[in-house]
Amino acid sequence: MTVMRKKIVAGNWKMNNNLQEGIELAKEINGLVESTDIKDVQVIIGAPFVHLTELNKAITSNKIRVSAQNCADEKSGAYTGEISASMIESTGTECVILGHSERRSYYGETSEILVKKTNLCLENNLTPIFCIGEVLEERESGKHFEVVKSQIADGLFHLSAEDFGKVVLAYEPVWAIGTGVTASADQAQEMHAFIRKTLAEQYGDEAAQNCSILYGGSCKPSNAKELFSNEDVDGGLIGGASLVAEDFMGIVTAF
Ligand code: PGA
Repeated sequence: MTVMRKKIVAGNWKMNNNLQEGIELAKEINGLVESTDIKDVQVIIGAPFVHLTELNKAITSNKIRVSAQNCADEKSGAYTGEISASMIESTGTECVILGHSERRSYYGETSEILVKKTNLCLENNLTPIFCIGEVLEERESGKHFEVVKSQIADGLFHLSAEDFGKVVLAYEPVWAIGTGVTASADQAQEMHAFIRKTLAEQYGDEAAQNCSILYGGSCKPSNAKELFSNEDVDGGLIGGASLVAEDFMGIVTAF
């Protein structure tokens, strides 16, 4: 069996940076990526919709891909204020973060909605970066494995093995997002190994081994090395620390 999964560090800027600030930051990251040996790490910048076109113009490194942070759950039509997967694709963007816990909790994104969004991304050649993760209560009551398993099954297991092969997963324990509390390296590895086992049961060992599973939640330069040294942690989805180029690069180079 050949294992081909990619190492990925993806920034999630969330609702930060105006257009000029976003272009500046992307250029800074681009310059650092070009001048640093980042080995075979794939860098992704998850930016607000209004940045996408300009970031795709500003980025020259072939090691960086641009991502949106959401897409509409319909193809096109009378959905005022929505942005479709095909519009995102037309900006040169290659990925979309889906099912982030902030979207699940503040905007009521259910698994049914995420099924539609995932399908639309794949139809438009966009890589879904599909987020899963339990809240603190669920972990404390020992339900975290069950919760994560059903998020994966309900959101993704309708996919064919071929389509599933195009998906990146991001395990983000909600209690670690933006809190400064990181999952320990052991907690991350334990959950990532469980996720891979869950994928193997559905799609077979090879597909499970080839899926990149990122960790997210207060990942920073000081803890990235320890987190990424785990066998089943293939990189990170980075919020706060992706807003400062040097911090982000400290994580990109942590493998
Ligand atoms: P954080 O956010 O790194 O600021 O904790 C991670 C995320 O929400 O993707």
